Amino acid sequence: MSPARQTAGDGPATGSGATTARIDHWIGGRSTPTGGDRRLTTHSPADGSEIADIALGTRDDVDRAVAAASAAAPAWRRRKPVERGRLLLRLAAAVQEHADELAVLESGETGKSIPQATAEMAGSAAYFEFYGGLVNALQGETIDVGPGFHTYTLNEPFGVVGVITPWNGPLNQASRGVAPALAAGNTVVLKPSEFTSATSLVLARLATGVGFPDGVLNVVTGDGQGAGVALVEHPDVRKVAFTGSARAGREIGRIAADRIIPLTLELGGKSANIVFADADLERAVQGSLTAFTANAGQICSSGTRLLVQRPVHDEFVARLVEASRAVRARETLGPMTTRAQYDKVLEYFAIAGAEGARAETGGAALPEAERGDGWFVPATIYTGVDNSMRIAREEVFGPVLAVIPFDGEDEAVGIANDSDYGLAAGLWTRDVSRALRVAEQLEAGQVYVNTWSAGIEAPFGGYKQSGYGREKGVQALHHYTQTKSVTVAL
Ligand code: NAD
Repeated sequence: MSPARQTAGDGPATGSGATTARIDHWIGGRSTPTGGDRRLTTHSPADGSEIADIALGTRDDVDRAVAAASAAAPAWRRRKPVERGRLLLRLAAAVQEHADELAVLESGETGKSIPQATAEMAGSAAYFEFYGGLVNALQGETIDVGPGFHTYTLNEPFGVVGVITPWNGPLNQASRGVAPALAAGNTVVLKPSEFTSATSLVLARLATGVGFPDGVLNVVTGDGQGAGVALVEHPDVRKVAFTGSARAGREIGRIAADRIIPLTLELGGKSANIVFADADLERAVQGSLTAFTANAGQICSSGTRLLVQRPVHDEFVARLVEASRAVRARETLGPMTTRAQYDKVLEYFAIAGAEGARAETGGAALPEAERGDGWFVPATIYTGVDNSMRIAREEVFGPVLAVIPFDGEDEAVGIANDSDYGLAAGLWTRDVSRALRVAEQLEAGQVYVNTWSAGIEAPFGGYKQSGYGREKGVQALHHYTQTKSVTVAL
């Protein structure tokens, strides 16, 4: 039986109404039932059928997982980096090998299409590949303090790291935190979103299968108020990497402040995408469409505020609306992953309408016949938006775009930066000087020029309310280590 099937039960978890998958924890190298009696049934976002029966982890469950991770920590950190790296490379290969099964599980829980889920599995494997190699280049420094002394630095792991992830890119986001944490010599307790636990469990099972020692990677399933809070509060958890909403980030931040532990917070966004009149408009249309509709807009770095220079505003909007007709709710976008998210998008349709924004396309619930039992919403483009409106300031987390006109460069930068968030930003222009000038002024952790994406090699994280700390790139490896300086009198 394949690892994916073992973890998810024997029946397919594809929303076809077949056997509901039973999901327990993965602690100390084995599947471990919860000591409690709370479970959660999740439903297919595409057709409402039952998908999984998930253990809602208790404080005792978290204790057991952290104990396993603590027990495994000393030997794991003493392994040569190259040995840890080799295991990560093997895990990358295993994820790739099981990509099809993982994609089916992820598609079933999130509603995303199989091709998209498959691409995300490749992305997940890439994190293990990247950090498996990179850990060999993790170096300290020698510091010249003058004659008679030798001072140098060591990059040491924290110990047990708690990784808490959301539901929009489950395995991708888990891998983004787990890979650098393990490479750097930490052990991990991963708490995936209660709506999308299956692939994280498979990851842990695959890790054990390729030779990771028991307890190095553990998964406790459950909700935020139960398993999530217990993990952040646990006295033996030395660092937490959190991806999710600003609301939960704040709650976790308070606990981390009390405990004085470091925290990486990857939160939401309302990212500005600026189109200058001199841009290659066709390229900008396609890029701007992808920026707000990929994963049905359920991406923290979606480009959901489109700033268009006035001379091309009307033409650009018309072309974007036309291009958006190819993005069909059922066939292309996929559903909102949770019922709450579906309700939230409909609420923002009402808010935008009441604020006076004009829906050029979308902006209302789909007819029952088109939506079926799935949580589908239409791609939506609002014009007549002022940056002070809620539709321009608050994260919707759906395929909803607010278009705002501007005249000059300074005004564009001013509008882009007039946001509580600062995760990503983008601009489209043929003028290289302008591109560099504007990129420098944008208050965002990641900036795209004439594109809306970046590789895992580029550091990623927020300015302002979008969080702090960095994932991806070489920087993330440093965020999962602490620096020790050693001074020797000669
Ligand atoms: P969420 O904050 O509700 O949940 C995220 C995770 O945190 C889940 O595992 C949840 O169980 C857990 N959690 C919730 N409350 C908690 C608490 N008080 N203590 C500990 N754990 C808690 O977010 P969501 O609805 O799952 O995801 C959507 C949000 O995530 C959006 O705001 C989106 O922008 C953000 N996000 C950010 C990034 C990024 O990299 N910046 C990536 C994806 C999603």
